Amino acid sequence: MSQQPPAPAGTAGEFLHDFLLAAGRHTPDAPAVIESARPGLTTVTSYAQLGALADAYTDGLLTLGLETGARVILEADTTAHSLAMLLAASRAGLTFIPVSPKTPGQRLRSLIGTARPALHLQASDGERTDLPRALATARFGPGGLTVEHAPEQPRPRRRVPCVTDPAYIIFTSGTTGRPKGVVMSHRAVVAFYRGMLAYGIATPEDRIASTSPLQFDFSLLNIGLALGSGASVVPVPPDLVRWPRHLLRVLRETGATQVNGVPSIWRQPLRHEPGRLAALDRLRSILFCGEEFPLPELRRLQELLPKARVINCYGATESMACSFDDVPNPLPADAHRLSIGVAHPGAEMLLVDEHGEIVAEPGVPGEIHLRSPALFSGYWDDPQATRRTLVPDPLCPQSGQVVLRTGDLAVRGAGGEFYFRGRTDSQVQINGNRVELAEVERRLTQYPGVAAASAAALPQPEGGGLRLTAFVVLTAGRPAVDTADLGAFCARALPPYMVPQEIRLLDVLPTTPNGKVDRAALAQGARPAA
Ligand code: ADP
Repeated sequence: MSQQPPAPAGTAGEFLHDFLLAAGRHTPDAPAVIESARPGLTTVTSYAQLGALADAYTDGLLTLGLETGARVILEADTTAHSLAMLLAASRAGLTFIPVSPKTPGQRLRSLIGTARPALHLQASDGERTDLPRALATARFGPGGLTVEHAPEQPRPRRRVPCVTDPAYIIFTSGTTGRPKGVVMSHRAVVAFYRGMLAYGIATPEDRIASTSPLQFDFSLLNIGLALGSGASVVPVPPDLVRWPRHLLRVLRETGATQVNGVPSIWRQPLRHEPGRLAALDRLRSILFCGEEFPLPELRRLQELLPKARVINCYGATESMACSFDDVPNPLPADAHRLSIGVAHPGAEMLLVDEHGEIVAEPGVPGEIHLRSPALFSGYWDDPQATRRTLVPDPLCPQSGQVVLRTGDLAVRGAGGEFYFRGRTDSQVQINGNRVELAEVERRLTQYPGVAAASAAALPQPEGGGLRLTAFVVLTAGRPAVDTADLGAFCARALPPYMVPQEIRLLDVLPTTPNGKVDRAALAQGARPAA
């Protein structure tokens, strides 16, 4: 048994670990985690086994005598063991920072310098060695918790864990080049999980494939969705996600009923393995998040999996996510936009115009501001950035309440639902004209044979201003597309300054580590297809 004192009445269920283990307590033998790292080898960890592992790890962590609130780096992919460790850190009153085992050493050291963790944890087969000497280290795995370098003298724990304490910190790339640490409290993440479950996404029978690496909050969304529903998490190892055959094998062998990931995970299977994809007869839903799903690819996915429910989930790490909507299946031929729905119960999305006024009319763009109990606490050690993002509630600035200023533009539909319109920072000026890159991309993907597109305003040499450039990926097996025809197609619907001056055909759009289109790489000049 863990040495953690029982939570006082009234707070039980509000801590991350309480929430994640609550549903499975009634079904101890049900599968909590289903793994299939190698062909033919599927490992199932029941809720009872996951709970026992978490108990053992909690005991191990508590003997280290770390202060409540101390930060621990959890360098791991998602596995039953790393999930148990995540639960244990939460129970031991520690704040975990998920980190990829692929993180370059220099970046990890910079993160350590910023977050000042008390402990580094990695799996027993982890390969990290070049850590600062002063940092305590331990490994976890089938043999339990092995402390390699113990923290200094254990001290009595002075603080009682509180649900407003940070449960985790996710370091995102940050536009400044300096990683931004998004601090999320137990209360906020549990509030999000409850709001998400109210949307009715999963049942206890579901096996939810999580294709996002542990260091991105999308994986925590999947974990909360699965365990919170008494369902199973199916972690897809990050190395396998990019390879369509491997990805589809894992989905088939684990009997995944739901696959959650960024839209780009589908691009290669759609291109290279449509038959195997269509044969996934247990798959009944797909949830995507993180960026817009190019409509041609989405339509193709629906053709191959006509019975699958497709859910568009919108939001940012700063609130984990916030809204959901079902994509009509099939998507009507005249649909040009996907609704991102409305905020989950208990939260509200508002649109605010550039003068700070609330936008109420349908069709008028504004920046999404999120009123929610699931907001992050702030950026780690960066009060200025926090103040720019957590701003006074525009509905009642006097109240002292803050809301999340998302940097995302949207319009409302006639039914009150929201439609994403791009980032405020993807708005560019071409020869003094305001251009929304998402608008250009949408037009490009309406052309037959275009699978995906990204637009960028690239600086011209010698002060020549910005040149609107489009990067386009074609649908496999379709006749070649003439870029002049594609340009003319854009010109029929867009004002002249929004028509790409240059269209480059690419085999693939480069992606960031979390699978979104890597706009910075495109801006630096992605190589044209051979
Ligand atoms: P996440 O990990 O949830 O994608 P990030 O913080 O990495 O969160 O990115 C958040 C941004 O991604 C949002 O502010 C928005 O610009 C974009 N985004 C997220 N979901 C969607 C979606 N369903 N449709 C369009 N854009 C989205």
